[in-house]
Amino acid sequence: MNNQDDTVRFCTRCVISNLRPTTTVESKHVRGEKKPTTRFDENGVCDACRWAEIKETEIDWAQREQELYDLCDRHRSRNGDYDVVVPASGGKDSMYVAHILKSKFSMNPLTVTWAPHIWTETGLSNHQNLIKSGFDNILISPNGEVHRKFTSLAFENLGHPFQPFIVGQRTVGPRMALQYGVELIFYGENVAEYGNNIEDNYIPTMDQNLYTCFNIDDPEMKLGGTSVRDLKDKHGMSRSDLIVYNSPTPEQAKAASLEVHYMSYYRKWVPQENFYYAMKNTRFEPSPTRTTGSYSKYSGLDDKLEWFHYYMMFIKFGMGRATADASQEVRTDKITREEAVALVRQYDGEFPIQHMGDLAEYMDIDEDRIYEIVDSFRPPHLWEKTPNGWIIKHQV
Ligand SMILES: [Zn+2]
Repeated sequence: MNNQDDTVRFCTRCVISNLRPTTTVESKHVRGEKKPTTRFDENGVCDACRWAEIKETEIDWAQREQELYDLCDRHRSRNGDYDVVVPASGGKDSMYVAHILKSKFSMNPLTVTWAPHIWTETGLSNHQNLIKSGFDNILISPNGEVHRKFTSLAFENLGHPFQPFIVGQRTVGPRMALQYGVELIFYGENVAEYGNNIEDNYIPTMDQNLYTCFNIDDPEMKLGGTSVRDLKDKHGMSRSDLIVYNSPTPEQAKAASLEVHYMSYYRKWVPQENFYYAMKNTRFEPSPTRTTGSYSKYSGLDDKLEWFHYYMMFIKFGMGRATADASQEVRTDKITREEAVALVRQYDGEFPIQHMGDLAEYMDIDEDRIYEIVDSFRPPHLWEKTPNGWIIKHQV
């Protein structure tokens, strides 16, 4: 069942609601448009929770491991050239993917990093730790002025300030693979782990539309809710300003035989286990402090603005970072649903006033205007304005 009306229901196993949007191709994303959402079955269980069960009971992981060996055998270079591109920040998941491909499957990975908006100290040091752990790395940092503009456009137009970053992260692997003549690209998990349609988990590769989504020579393509034509005509951007965001075209991807795979198809994806793996086998270090908007210390550590991405999800869908973290931990039996509910209620809507200055400065939008834009994205079926401020109407 997809969410056809504004009724808010919560999964009976984890803590996500039926408002959670599923991944779409950003160039087609427009403000106010209703996006497809996570499906719930007749027992009120979300697709991500059903998938968590299937992972334990139905998938033959030994068979999947064999498929991974076969895939690597087909791509492994004989002369020591790079044979797989691993987009990696130095977080636990990408460290795990890069390390396992190199150590267990004898691949020669090139790691590529799409820089965060503003590095945290932990993020910077883990990026160094990735290199120190035995990996070549190419860091791609988009022009600060252009990325600032994109971030503020995406915030104002879509309420999704992280969209340009996410698009960049998703296309950087295929783009660098093209440049280096590598065919295989490995990302971590399919978002279907967290609530996209369950069927997606049975496909090892990324939907090509997702990494061919921003062709800077197509005037109708959009980033930050703004077409290439308007980026040039109204925002004064040149082609060279955009080039770092350019994705391969479907024709280029085909001609270069690009294959973009998810490790979560081949090996059972458990974020906590990736954390333990990265701690044991690489130089990854967790954050000394908990993540704003949640309670964890091991996820999303790289970017000083990442809290704002989850905060906008809380505004638009009533689900923030604690919901994402806690749901995932319920599914892997790390915490109970009761604990998850308590954590969500305590942390989910946390607004870190102390980081507001960084954000306003980064986007070059004054604080009052930021609040105004935030409020314009509160859907009436989720939020009520009272004399004491905004109140969320539905919380788990
Ligand atoms: Zn669920």
